[in-house]
Amino acid sequence: MEFIDPALLIYCEDHSSKEDSLLRKITRETQAKVMMPRMLSGHLQGKLLELFTKMQNPKTILEIGTYTGYSGICMARGLGKGGKLITLDINDELETMVRGFFEESGLADKIDYRLGNAMEIIPTLPGPFDMVFIDADKINYSNYYELIIDKMNPGGIILADNVLWSGKILVDKNQAVDKNTQAILDFNTMIQNDPRVENALLPIRDGVMIARKI
Ligand code: SAH
Ligand code: CA
Repeated sequence: MEFIDPALLIYCEDHSSKEDSLLRKITRETQAKVMMPRMLSGHLQGKLLELFTKMQNPKTILEIGTYTGYSGICMARGLGKGGKLITLDINDELETMVRGFFEESGLADKIDYRLGNAMEIIPTLPGPFDMVFIDADKINYSNYYELIIDKMNPGGIILADNVLWSGKILVDKNQAVDKNTQAILDFNTMIQNDPRVENALLPIRDGVMIARKI
């Protein structure tokens, strides 16, 4: 499902700070060599992540779902002095490529890239976090949220990607839904009902939930 007229999207991209050569290279190589290149954040969302980071000025960001490093590099670019990004992914086949991109970004010293199952790694991270980007397996979105919420500083923001799930969240109450769609529906409902956060669901790309810990 297209959420926005393609011509409007092009206009938006034409009026957003340009992608640099490294981000264009990551996009090119992801499309050429990696499965499911649709998962890349892309120009508009990447710039938005960078700007959010600059506005938030976090000490510590946690990213769940590195993939080929696009979104991680965008957030790392927004970090101030002393800030760091911890980014997790279960797919070790991408490691060499991703470490190469992090080196090329000149920000490798700010990026702590860990391979493994995020459900197992997060409990070992002490926090606190000022910003979290949830973008891994949809089935675990609510679990990730429960693992991080008590480790968020007050005022910390949680961003969760793909919460409109290509529009599949629009289902009738008694319609059967697949597991991933149900997980996203449950996540969105949980955030909406959680008094610990204030939130807005932004209809950007595939939907980004932004929740700020009170
Ligand atoms: N944030 C990236 C895209 C992430 S795609 C960007 O915007 O460019 C989702 C990633 O989550 C994939 O690379 C996948 O390997 C990873 N993933 C899936 N399940 C995971 C798990 N249980 N733990 C850690 N990473 C996981
Ligand atoms: Ca995503």
